[in-house]
Amino acid sequence: MSAETHATRLDEMAREYRDTANRCILPSAARSYENDARSCEAGAAALRRGTCVWQQDEDGAWSTACGKRWEFTWYEHRPSAHDMRFCHHCGQTLGERGYVEPANDES
Ligand SMILES: [Zn+2]
Repeated sequence: MSAETHATRLDEMAREYRDTANRCILPSAARSYENDARSCEAGAAALRRGTCVWQQDEDGAWSTACGKRWEFTWYEHRPSAHDMRFCHHCGQTLGERGYVEPANDES
């Protein structure tokens, strides 16, 4: 599914959640549906903004395109290994670029 298709689907879900919220009799249930609608809209907006690429350095830490640094303490040092799909700082879709050893010319 393309990012735009996914974003459009999230917008549709937001509308459905809001319609349901408007029909709710219980205020607490209405608030819950309204929160779901907002989450969908935030996700759709992030998908339309694009990708935040995280570049890994030689120490294993990651620098995000939006200017943050992030380290994992677990042995598997990749965002995708933790099912991270969005940057926690800017909300864009997360793209990862693992560290690649520079080519060694002395051989
Ligand atoms: Zn970011």
